[in-house]
Amino acid sequence: MIICTYLFIFIIGAMLGSFFNVCIYRLPRGEGIIFPGSHCPKCQAQLKPWDNIPILSYIFLRGKCRYCNGIISSRYILVESITGLLYLGLYLRFGLGVEFFYYIFFISVLVIITFIDIEHFLILDKITYPSMVVGLIACLIKKDLAGGAIGLLVGAGIIYGIVVVSAVILKMINHPCKDEGGMGLGDVKLGGVMGVFLGWKFVLVALFLACLFGSIIGLFLIFLKLKKRTDYIPFGPYLAMGSLVVVLWGEKVLGWYLGLLGR
Ligand SMILES: [Zn+2]
Repeated sequence: MIICTYLFIFIIGAMLGSFFNVCIYRLPRGEGIIFPGSHCPKCQAQLKPWDNIPILSYIFLRGKCRYCNGIISSRYILVESITGLLYLGLYLRFGLGVEFFYYIFFISVLVIITFIDIEHFLILDKITYPSMVVGLIACLIKKDLAGGAIGLLVGAGIIYGIVVVSAVILKMINHPCKDEGGMGLGDVKLGGVMGVFLGWKFVLVALFLACLFGSIIGLFLIFLKLKKRTDYIPFGPYLAMGSLVVVLWGEKVLGWYLGLLGR
C-alpha cells in the first residue's frame, strides 16, 4: 500500500510540474497563466485533455505535436518527472506534515525559477517578491518573523556582495563579460527568498554548496566544450541545487561542514 502513496505523491508532483511548465513558458513572455487554455506554441492548436497527461502524453506522442508534428521541448517531460521526484523526496523526508507543504512551496518556486533562468537568463521579480511575502507570512505563523527577515538580509546581502566584488574584478581584468557581470540582481532576490525559507544558518550552507556545484559543473561544461569560458552561465540553477540539498540533508551537511572547520 505504501507504493500507492508514493505513486500518488509522484503523480501529484508531475501534474503540478505540468502547470509549472506553463508558468516557465508564459511568465517570461508576459502571458497569463490560466487563460488561454493549453495550446501548442508552434501551431497554436488547442490541446485536448488527453494531450496534456503529464509524462505519458509526451511519450505517446514521441515528443511531437499531434497537430503540426512540431517538436515539443524535452523540458516538458523533464520538469514533470523532476517535480514528481522532488515531491516524493520531500514526502520521504518530512511525511505529510506542515513542513512538507512549506518546503513543497519553496522547491516548486525553485523549479520554475531554475528552468526560466536556463532558457532566458532571467530571474523574475514577479516570482521572487511574492515568494518572499509567502515565506515571511509562514515565518509569522511560526512566530519567527525575525528569523525569516534576518535570513532574507543574509541571503540577499551575501549575493549582493558577490555581485559588486565580481563586477569590480571583471572590470579590473577587462574581461569580455564585464558589462553583464557574473551574477545579477535576480540572483540577489533569489538569495533573499532562500534566506527566508532556510534561515540565516542554512542559507549560508546553501550558498556554499551553490558555489561548489557552480564551479564543479561550470568547469565540467567548459572541459566538455559545451560552454566557452566567456559564455554566460546562469547561477539560479546552482542556488536551487544548494537549497535542495539543504532542505533534504541540511543537518548532515552542516555537521560535515563544521567538521571541516575543525569545530
Ligand atoms: Zn502544434
